[in-house]
Amino acid sequence: MSSYETATRYFEQAANVMGISPNMRKLLRTPQREVKVQVALEMDDGQVETFIGYRVQHDNARGPMKGGLRFHPEVDADEVLALATLMTWKTAIVNIPYGGAKGGISINPRDLSPGELERVTRKFVDEIHDIIGPDKDIPAPDMGTGPQEMAWIMNQYGKYHGYNPACVTGKPVELHGADGRNEATGRGVAILTKALLDRYMAPIKEARVAIQGFGNVGSFAASFLHDMGARVVAISDVSGGIYNPEGLDIPALLKYQSANGSVQDFPETEPMNNAELLAADVEVLIPAAIGNVLTGENAGAVRAKFVIEAANNPTTPEADEIFHEREIIVLPDVLANAGGVTVSYFEWVQNRQHFRWDLQRVRDELDRIMIDSFEKVLTIAREKHIPLRVAAYILGIGRVGRATVLGGI
Ligand code: NAD
Repeated sequence: MSSYETATRYFEQAANVMGISPNMRKLLRTPQREVKVQVALEMDDGQVETFIGYRVQHDNARGPMKGGLRFHPEVDADEVLALATLMTWKTAIVNIPYGGAKGGISINPRDLSPGELERVTRKFVDEIHDIIGPDKDIPAPDMGTGPQEMAWIMNQYGKYHGYNPACVTGKPVELHGADGRNEATGRGVAILTKALLDRYMAPIKEARVAIQGFGNVGSFAASFLHDMGARVVAISDVSGGIYNPEGLDIPALLKYQSANGSVQDFPETEPMNNAELLAADVEVLIPAAIGNVLTGENAGAVRAKFVIEAANNPTTPEADEIFHEREIIVLPDVLANAGGVTVSYFEWVQNRQHFRWDLQRVRDELDRIMIDSFEKVLTIAREKHIPLRVAAYILGIGRVGRATVLGGI
Protein backbone atom coordinates (compact mmCIF):
# COMPACT_ATOMS: atom_id res chain seq x y z
CA MET A 1 0.00 0.00 0.00
CA SER A 2 1.41 3.43 -0.92
CA SER A 3 1.89 6.19 1.66
CA TYR A 4 -1.02 8.16 0.18
CA GLU A 5 -3.30 5.12 0.26
CA THR A 6 -2.39 4.74 3.94
CA ALA A 7 -3.18 8.39 4.64
CA THR A 8 -6.46 8.05 2.75
CA ARG A 9 -7.40 4.90 4.67
CA TYR A 10 -6.97 6.73 7.98
CA PHE A 11 -8.94 9.72 6.65
CA GLU A 12 -11.78 7.42 5.54
CA GLN A 13 -11.94 5.67 8.93
CA ALA A 14 -12.61 9.02 10.60
CA ALA A 15 -14.91 10.26 7.81
CA ASN A 16 -17.05 7.12 8.26
CA VAL A 17 -17.48 7.80 11.99
CA MET A 18 -18.29 11.45 11.19
CA GLY A 19 -20.74 10.59 8.40
CA ILE A 20 -19.13 12.96 5.88
CA SER A 21 -20.71 12.97 2.41
CA PRO A 22 -18.74 11.53 -0.55
CA ASN A 23 -18.49 14.96 -2.24
CA MET A 24 -17.14 16.62 0.89
CA ARG A 25 -14.64 13.77 1.36
CA LYS A 26 -13.37 14.29 -2.17
CA LEU A 27 -13.02 18.03 -1.62
CA LEU A 28 -11.12 17.59 1.66
CA ARG A 29 -8.82 14.89 0.28
CA THR A 30 -7.88 16.51 -3.00
CA PRO A 31 -4.68 18.60 -2.89
CA GLN A 32 -4.87 22.19 -4.11
CA ARG A 33 -1.59 22.03 -6.00
CA GLU A 34 1.14 19.49 -6.73
CA VAL A 35 4.41 20.75 -8.18
CA LYS A 36 7.28 18.68 -9.55
CA VAL A 37 10.42 20.52 -10.64
CA GLN A 38 13.81 19.83 -12.12
CA VAL A 39 16.68 20.59 -9.74
CA ALA A 40 19.82 20.53 -11.85
CA LEU A 41 23.21 21.55 -10.49
CA GLU A 42 26.91 21.35 -11.08
CA MET A 43 28.58 18.98 -8.63
CA ASP A 44 32.00 19.66 -7.12
CA ASP A 45 33.66 17.44 -9.73
CA GLY A 46 32.18 19.50 -12.57
CA GLN A 47 29.54 16.90 -13.54
CA VAL A 48 25.94 18.03 -13.96
CA GLU A 49 23.42 16.09 -11.86
CA THR A 50 19.65 16.39 -12.17
CA PHE A 51 17.36 15.71 -9.23
CA ILE A 52 13.57 15.95 -8.84
CA GLY A 53 11.99 18.29 -6.30
CA TYR A 54 8.39 18.22 -5.09
CA ARG A 55 6.05 20.59 -3.27
CA VAL A 56 2.47 19.60 -2.55
CA GLN A 57 0.06 22.17 -1.15
CA HIS A 58 -2.86 20.25 0.23
CA ASP A 59 -5.21 22.70 1.93
CA ASN A 60 -5.35 26.34 3.05
CA ALA A 61 -8.85 26.64 4.49
CA ARG A 62 -7.46 27.52 7.94
CA GLY A 63 -4.46 29.63 6.89
CA PRO A 64 -1.24 29.59 4.88
CA MET A 65 0.06 26.12 4.15
CA LYS A 66 2.85 24.73 6.29
CA GLY A 67 5.10 21.73 5.97
CA GLY A 68 8.63 20.41 6.02
CA LEU A 69 11.17 19.88 3.30
CA ARG A 70 12.71 16.39 3.19
CA PHE A 71 16.01 15.39 1.59
CA HIS A 72 15.99 11.60 1.31
CA PRO A 73 16.58 9.12 -1.52
CA GLU A 74 13.08 7.62 -1.13
CA VAL A 75 11.21 10.92 -1.60
CA ASP A 76 8.61 10.63 -4.37
CA ALA A 77 5.36 12.29 -5.42
CA ASP A 78 3.17 9.81 -3.53
CA GLU A 79 5.05 10.20 -0.25
CA VAL A 80 5.07 14.01 -0.43
CA LEU A 81 1.32 14.06 -1.14
CA ALA A 82 0.67 11.76 1.82
CA LEU A 83 2.79 13.91 4.12
CA ALA A 84 1.11 17.12 2.90
CA THR A 85 -2.32 15.73 3.81
CA LEU A 86 -1.04 14.70 7.24
CA MET A 87 0.09 18.31 7.77
CA THR A 88 -3.43 19.61 7.12
CA TRP A 89 -4.90 17.42 9.85
CA LYS A 90 -1.93 18.00 12.17
CA THR A 91 -2.10 21.81 12.13
CA ALA A 92 -5.84 21.56 12.70
CA ILE A 93 -5.48 19.06 15.58
CA VAL A 94 -3.17 21.44 17.49
CA ASN A 95 -5.37 24.34 16.33
CA ILE A 96 -2.72 26.60 14.82
CA PRO A 97 -3.81 28.83 11.91
CA TYR A 98 -2.29 26.91 9.04
CA GLY A 99 -3.12 24.46 6.30
CA GLY A 100 -0.90 21.62 5.13
CA ALA A 101 1.94 21.23 2.63
CA LYS A 102 5.11 19.20 2.19
CA GLY A 103 8.16 19.16 -0.03
CA GLY A 104 11.16 17.06 -0.77
CA ILE A 105 14.02 16.28 -3.08
CA SER A 106 15.03 12.71 -3.85
CA ILE A 107 18.69 12.96 -2.85
CA ASN A 108 20.86 11.39 -0.19
CA PRO A 109 22.26 14.42 1.68
CA ARG A 110 25.07 12.24 3.07
CA ASP A 111 26.42 11.91 -0.50
CA LEU A 112 26.57 15.69 -1.07
CA SER A 113 29.24 18.16 0.04
CA PRO A 114 28.12 21.29 1.97
CA GLY A 115 28.57 23.33 -1.22
CA GLU A 116 26.43 20.91 -3.25
CA LEU A 117 23.74 20.90 -0.54
CA GLU A 118 23.64 24.70 -0.61
CA ARG A 119 23.34 24.77 -4.40
CA VAL A 120 20.60 22.13 -4.45
CA THR A 121 18.62 24.02 -1.79
CA ARG A 122 18.95 27.38 -3.56
CA LYS A 123 18.08 25.84 -6.94
CA PHE A 124 14.91 24.34 -5.48
CA VAL A 125 13.91 27.78 -4.15
CA ASP A 126 14.58 29.25 -7.62
CA GLU A 127 12.00 26.81 -8.97
CA ILE A 128 9.25 27.27 -6.36
CA HIS A 129 9.77 30.78 -4.88
CA ASP A 130 6.61 32.19 -6.47
CA ILE A 131 4.32 29.66 -4.77
CA ILE A 132 5.83 29.87 -1.26
CA GLY A 133 5.94 32.81 1.17
CA PRO A 134 4.82 33.89 4.66
CA ASP A 135 1.14 34.14 3.65
CA LYS A 136 1.13 31.26 1.16
CA ASP A 137 3.23 28.28 2.15
CA ILE A 138 6.02 28.20 4.73
CA PRO A 139 8.64 25.40 4.52
CA ALA A 140 10.43 23.97 7.58
CA PRO A 141 12.96 21.21 8.33
CA ASP A 142 12.17 17.53 7.96
CA MET A 143 14.26 14.41 7.51
CA GLY A 144 17.66 15.30 6.03
CA THR A 145 17.29 19.07 6.42
CA GLY A 146 17.91 21.42 9.34
CA PRO A 147 18.59 25.05 10.31
CA GLN A 148 21.34 25.53 7.70
CA GLU A 149 19.07 24.60 4.78
CA MET A 150 16.36 26.90 6.18
CA ALA A 151 18.89 29.79 6.32
CA TRP A 152 19.70 29.22 2.63
CA ILE A 153 15.97 29.16 1.81
CA MET A 154 15.41 32.48 3.61
CA ASN A 155 18.35 34.08 1.83
CA GLN A 156 17.39 32.78 -1.63
CA TYR A 157 13.71 33.68 -1.20
CA GLY A 158 14.82 37.20 -0.17
CA LYS A 159 16.62 37.65 -3.50
CA TYR A 160 13.26 37.46 -5.28
CA HIS A 161 10.85 38.94 -2.74
CA GLY A 162 12.94 41.03 -0.31
CA TYR A 163 13.82 40.46 3.32
CA ASN A 164 11.15 38.36 5.02
CA PRO A 165 12.33 35.84 7.63
CA ALA A 166 8.76 34.54 8.15
CA CYS A 167 8.99 32.83 4.73
CA VAL A 168 10.55 29.74 6.35
CA THR A 169 10.82 28.33 9.88
CA GLY A 170 13.37 26.18 11.66
CA LYS A 171 16.07 28.76 10.91
CA PRO A 172 19.23 29.03 13.04
CA VAL A 173 18.63 30.91 16.30
CA GLU A 174 21.27 33.46 15.17
CA LEU A 175 19.24 34.15 12.03
CA HIS A 176 15.65 34.78 13.17
CA GLY A 177 15.12 31.21 14.35
CA ALA A 178 13.18 30.50 17.55
CA ASP A 179 14.75 29.25 20.73
CA GLY A 180 13.37 25.77 21.26
CA ARG A 181 12.50 24.97 17.61
CA ASN A 182 15.26 22.41 17.22
CA GLU A 183 14.15 20.43 20.27
CA ALA A 184 10.41 20.97 19.77
CA THR A 185 9.31 17.78 18.02
CA GLY A 186 11.28 15.56 20.39
CA ARG A 187 10.08 17.54 23.40
CA GLY A 188 6.46 17.20 22.29
CA VAL A 189 6.96 13.45 21.82
CA ALA A 190 8.36 13.13 25.35
CA ILE A 191 5.64 15.31 26.94
CA LEU A 192 2.87 13.26 25.34
CA THR A 193 4.57 9.93 26.09
CA LYS A 194 4.50 10.88 29.77
CA ALA A 195 0.90 12.16 29.55
CA LEU A 196 -0.23 8.93 27.87
CA LEU A 197 1.56 6.70 30.36
CA ASP A 198 0.11 8.73 33.26
CA ARG A 199 -3.39 8.07 31.89
CA TYR A 200 -2.73 4.34 31.77
CA MET A 201 -1.15 4.23 35.24
CA ALA A 202 2.23 3.30 33.79
CA PRO A 203 4.78 5.51 35.57
CA ILE A 204 7.36 7.02 33.22
CA LYS A 205 10.14 6.16 35.67
CA GLU A 206 9.41 2.44 35.25
CA ALA A 207 9.15 2.60 31.47
CA ARG A 208 11.74 1.02 29.21
CA VAL A 209 11.90 2.78 25.84
CA ALA A 210 13.22 1.82 22.38
CA ILE A 211 13.71 4.55 19.76
CA GLN A 212 14.28 4.00 16.05
CA GLY A 213 16.16 7.00 14.62
CA PHE A 214 18.58 9.24 16.47
CA GLY A 215 18.33 12.38 14.35
CA ASN A 216 16.62 15.59 15.34
CA VAL A 217 13.43 14.00 16.65
CA GLY A 218 14.81 10.76 18.10
CA SER A 219 17.74 12.39 19.91
CA PHE A 220 15.69 15.11 21.60
CA ALA A 221 12.91 12.66 22.50
CA ALA A 222 15.57 10.40 24.06
CA SER A 223 17.07 13.32 26.03
CA PHE A 224 13.79 14.56 27.43
CA LEU A 225 12.57 11.05 28.30
CA HIS A 226 15.92 10.33 29.97
CA ASP A 227 15.52 13.57 31.99
CA MET A 228 12.00 12.46 32.99
CA GLY A 229 13.47 9.27 34.44
CA ALA A 230 12.53 6.79 31.69
CA ARG A 231 15.05 4.05 30.84
CA VAL A 232 15.96 4.34 27.16
CA VAL A 233 17.36 0.87 26.47
CA ALA A 234 17.61 0.69 22.66
CA ILE A 235 18.39 3.21 19.93
CA SER A 236 19.12 2.82 16.24
CA ASP A 237 20.03 4.90 13.23
CA VAL A 238 20.37 4.12 9.55
CA SER A 239 23.53 2.05 10.14
CA GLY A 240 22.18 -0.12 12.98
CA GLY A 241 21.36 -0.01 16.66
CA ILE A 242 22.56 -0.53 20.22
CA TYR A 243 20.99 -2.06 23.33
CA ASN A 244 21.65 -2.03 27.06
CA PRO A 245 18.87 -3.41 29.32
CA GLU A 246 20.12 -1.24 32.19
CA GLY A 247 19.50 1.93 30.14
CA LEU A 248 21.69 4.06 27.88
CA ASP A 249 23.57 7.11 29.09
CA ILE A 250 21.88 9.52 26.67
CA PRO A 251 24.06 12.63 27.28
CA ALA A 252 27.17 10.48 26.68
CA LEU A 253 25.56 8.91 23.59
CA LEU A 254 24.86 12.36 22.11
CA LYS A 255 28.53 13.29 22.46
CA TYR A 256 29.56 9.91 21.03
CA GLN A 257 27.27 10.33 18.04
CA SER A 258 28.50 13.80 17.20
CA ALA A 259 32.11 12.56 17.35
CA ASN A 260 31.49 9.31 15.41
CA GLY A 261 28.55 10.12 13.14
CA SER A 262 26.55 7.10 14.38
CA VAL A 263 25.43 5.33 17.56
CA GLN A 264 27.16 2.08 16.48
CA ASP A 265 29.67 0.52 18.89
CA PHE A 266 28.79 2.87 21.78
CA PRO A 267 30.60 1.38 24.83
CA GLU A 268 28.76 -1.05 27.14
CA THR A 269 26.08 -1.92 24.58
CA GLU A 270 25.20 -4.90 22.42
CA PRO A 271 24.45 -4.39 18.73
CA MET A 272 20.77 -4.56 17.81
CA ASN A 273 19.52 -4.22 14.25
CA ASN A 274 16.47 -2.17 13.28
CA ALA A 275 14.18 -5.21 13.00
CA GLU A 276 15.20 -6.41 16.48
CA LEU A 277 14.69 -2.94 17.92
CA LEU A 278 11.05 -2.86 16.79
CA ALA A 279 10.46 -6.13 18.68
CA ALA A 280 12.51 -5.15 21.76
CA ASP A 281 11.30 -6.04 25.26
CA VAL A 282 10.12 -2.53 26.26
CA GLU A 283 6.99 -0.74 27.39
CA VAL A 284 7.32 2.12 24.87
CA LEU A 285 8.36 1.92 21.21
CA ILE A 286 9.09 5.18 19.39
CA PRO A 287 9.61 5.00 15.63
CA ALA A 288 11.41 8.31 14.89
CA ALA A 289 12.97 7.71 11.47
CA ILE A 290 11.18 6.78 8.25
CA GLY A 291 7.66 5.71 7.24
CA ASN A 292 6.08 2.25 6.90
CA VAL A 293 8.39 0.48 9.36
CA LEU A 294 5.60 -1.18 11.38
CA THR A 295 3.80 -3.52 8.99
CA GLY A 296 1.48 -6.52 8.87
CA GLU A 297 4.61 -8.70 8.92
CA ASN A 298 6.27 -7.39 12.07
CA ALA A 299 3.40 -5.91 14.14
CA GLY A 300 2.74 -9.27 15.78
CA ALA A 301 6.30 -9.30 17.13
CA VAL A 302 6.07 -5.88 18.80
CA ARG A 303 6.28 -6.29 22.59
CA ALA A 304 5.73 -2.66 23.58
CA LYS A 305 2.39 -1.68 25.15
CA PHE A 306 2.59 1.87 23.72
CA VAL A 307 3.69 2.97 20.24
CA ILE A 308 4.45 6.68 19.97
CA GLU A 309 4.59 7.74 16.32
CA ALA A 310 7.35 10.35 16.31
CA ALA A 311 8.03 9.70 12.60
CA ASN A 312 5.40 10.45 10.00
CA ASN A 313 3.42 7.46 8.71
CA PRO A 314 5.46 4.76 10.51
CA THR A 315 2.50 2.34 10.87
CA THR A 316 0.72 0.70 7.95
CA PRO A 317 -3.05 0.14 8.30
CA GLU A 318 -2.43 -3.63 8.60
CA ALA A 319 -0.11 -3.05 11.55
CA ASP A 320 -2.55 -0.54 13.03
CA GLU A 321 -5.29 -3.18 12.94
CA ILE A 322 -3.03 -5.74 14.64
CA PHE A 323 -2.09 -3.23 17.36
CA HIS A 324 -5.77 -2.51 17.95
CA GLU A 325 -6.56 -6.24 18.30
CA ARG A 326 -3.59 -6.69 20.65
CA GLU A 327 -4.66 -3.64 22.72
CA ILE A 328 -1.40 -1.85 22.01
CA ILE A 329 -2.06 1.88 22.35
CA VAL A 330 -0.86 3.96 19.38
CA LEU A 331 -0.33 7.70 19.79
CA PRO A 332 -0.69 8.84 16.16
CA ASP A 333 1.86 10.92 14.25
CA VAL A 334 -0.60 13.76 13.58
CA LEU A 335 -0.60 14.44 17.32
CA ALA A 336 2.64 12.89 18.64
CA ASN A 337 5.03 14.85 16.41
CA ALA A 338 3.05 18.10 16.19
CA GLY A 339 5.48 19.88 18.53
CA GLY A 340 7.71 20.85 15.60
CA VAL A 341 5.05 22.63 13.59
CA THR A 342 3.73 24.25 16.76
CA VAL A 343 7.06 25.91 17.55
CA SER A 344 7.46 26.71 13.84
CA TYR A 345 4.24 28.68 14.29
CA PHE A 346 5.77 30.49 17.28
CA GLU A 347 8.81 31.31 15.14
CA TRP A 348 6.61 32.72 12.37
CA VAL A 349 4.68 34.81 14.93
CA GLN A 350 7.94 36.17 16.38
CA ASN A 351 9.32 36.97 12.92
CA ARG A 352 6.16 38.86 12.00
CA GLN A 353 6.16 40.80 15.27
CA HIS A 354 9.95 41.32 15.33
CA PHE A 355 9.77 40.24 18.96
CA ARG A 356 11.75 37.37 20.43
CA TRP A 357 10.36 34.99 23.06
CA ASP A 358 12.70 33.33 25.54
CA LEU A 359 13.07 29.53 25.72
CA GLN A 360 10.88 29.19 28.81
CA ARG A 361 7.98 30.93 27.09
CA VAL A 362 8.35 28.72 24.01
CA ARG A 363 8.41 25.56 26.15
CA ASP A 364 5.46 26.64 28.30
CA GLU A 365 3.29 27.49 25.27
CA LEU A 366 4.32 24.26 23.51
CA ASP A 367 3.57 22.07 26.51
CA ARG A 368 0.18 23.73 26.95
CA ILE A 369 -0.83 23.23 23.31
CA MET A 370 0.37 19.62 23.25
CA ILE A 371 -1.42 18.68 26.47
CA ASP A 372 -4.65 20.54 25.51
CA SER A 373 -4.73 18.79 22.13
CA PHE A 374 -3.99 15.41 23.72
CA GLU A 375 -6.85 15.89 26.22
CA LYS A 376 -9.29 16.79 23.42
CA VAL A 377 -8.28 13.72 21.40
CA LEU A 378 -8.50 11.47 24.45
CA THR A 379 -12.00 12.78 25.26
CA ILE A 380 -13.23 12.03 21.72
CA ALA A 381 -11.65 8.55 21.84
CA ARG A 382 -13.30 7.73 25.17
CA GLU A 383 -16.72 9.15 24.24
CA LYS A 384 -16.86 7.29 20.92
CA HIS A 385 -14.91 4.17 21.97
CA ILE A 386 -12.46 4.59 19.09
CA PRO A 387 -8.65 4.47 18.79
CA LEU A 388 -6.65 7.66 19.39
CA ARG A 389 -5.77 7.94 15.68
CA VAL A 390 -9.41 8.01 14.57
CA ALA A 391 -10.20 10.49 17.34
CA ALA A 392 -7.33 12.77 16.29
CA TYR A 393 -8.44 12.70 12.65
CA ILE A 394 -12.02 13.50 13.71
CA LEU A 395 -10.78 16.58 15.58
CA GLY A 396 -8.60 17.72 12.64
CA ILE A 397 -10.99 16.93 9.80
CA GLY A 398 -13.87 18.56 11.70
CA ARG A 399 -11.96 21.83 12.05
CA VAL A 400 -10.84 21.87 8.41
CA GLY A 401 -14.31 20.93 7.18
CA ARG A 402 -15.99 23.69 9.19
CA ALA A 403 -13.47 26.29 8.00
CA THR A 404 -13.98 25.16 4.40
CA VAL A 405 -17.75 25.50 4.60
CA LEU A 406 -17.68 28.78 6.53
CA GLY A 407 -15.21 30.33 4.09
CA GLY A 408 -17.32 29.29 1.11
CA ILE A 409 -16.25 26.94 -1.64
P1 NAD B 1 16.79 13.36 10.76
O1 NAD B 1 17.27 13.32 9.38
O2 NAD B 1 17.32 14.38 11.71
O3 NAD B 1 17.04 11.92 11.46
C1 NAD B 1 16.57 10.73 10.88
C2 NAD B 1 17.12 9.55 11.69
O4 NAD B 1 16.59 8.35 11.13
C3 NAD B 1 18.64 9.42 11.61
O5 NAD B 1 19.13 8.94 12.86
C4 NAD B 1 18.84 8.37 10.52
O6 NAD B 1 20.08 7.67 10.66
C5 NAD B 1 17.66 7.47 10.81
N1 NAD B 1 17.26 6.67 9.64
C6 NAD B 1 17.17 7.06 8.34
N2 NAD B 1 16.81 6.03 7.58
C7 NAD B 1 16.68 4.97 8.41
C8 NAD B 1 16.33 3.60 8.23
N3 NAD B 1 16.08 3.12 7.00
N4 NAD B 1 16.27 2.81 9.32
C9 NAD B 1 16.53 3.29 10.56
N5 NAD B 1 16.87 4.56 10.81
C10 NAD B 1 16.94 5.37 9.73
O7 NAD B 1 15.19 13.43 10.66
P2 NAD B 1 14.16 13.98 11.75
O8 NAD B 1 13.94 15.41 11.49
O9 NAD B 1 14.56 13.49 13.08
O10 NAD B 1 12.81 13.24 11.27
C11 NAD B 1 12.52 11.90 11.66
C12 NAD B 1 11.06 11.63 11.42
O11 NAD B 1 10.27 12.56 12.18
C13 NAD B 1 10.60 11.78 9.97
O12 NAD B 1 9.59 10.84 9.72
C14 NAD B 1 10.00 13.17 9.94
O13 NAD B 1 9.03 13.34 8.93
C15 NAD B 1 9.37 13.23 11.32
N6 NAD B 1 9.15 14.60 11.80
C16 NAD B 1 10.19 15.47 11.94
C17 NAD B 1 9.94 16.74 12.43
C18 NAD B 1 11.04 17.73 12.69
O14 NAD B 1 10.77 18.77 13.30
N7 NAD B 1 12.29 17.45 12.33
C19 NAD B 1 8.63 17.13 12.74
C20 NAD B 1 7.59 16.21 12.59
C21 NAD B 1 7.87 14.95 12.11
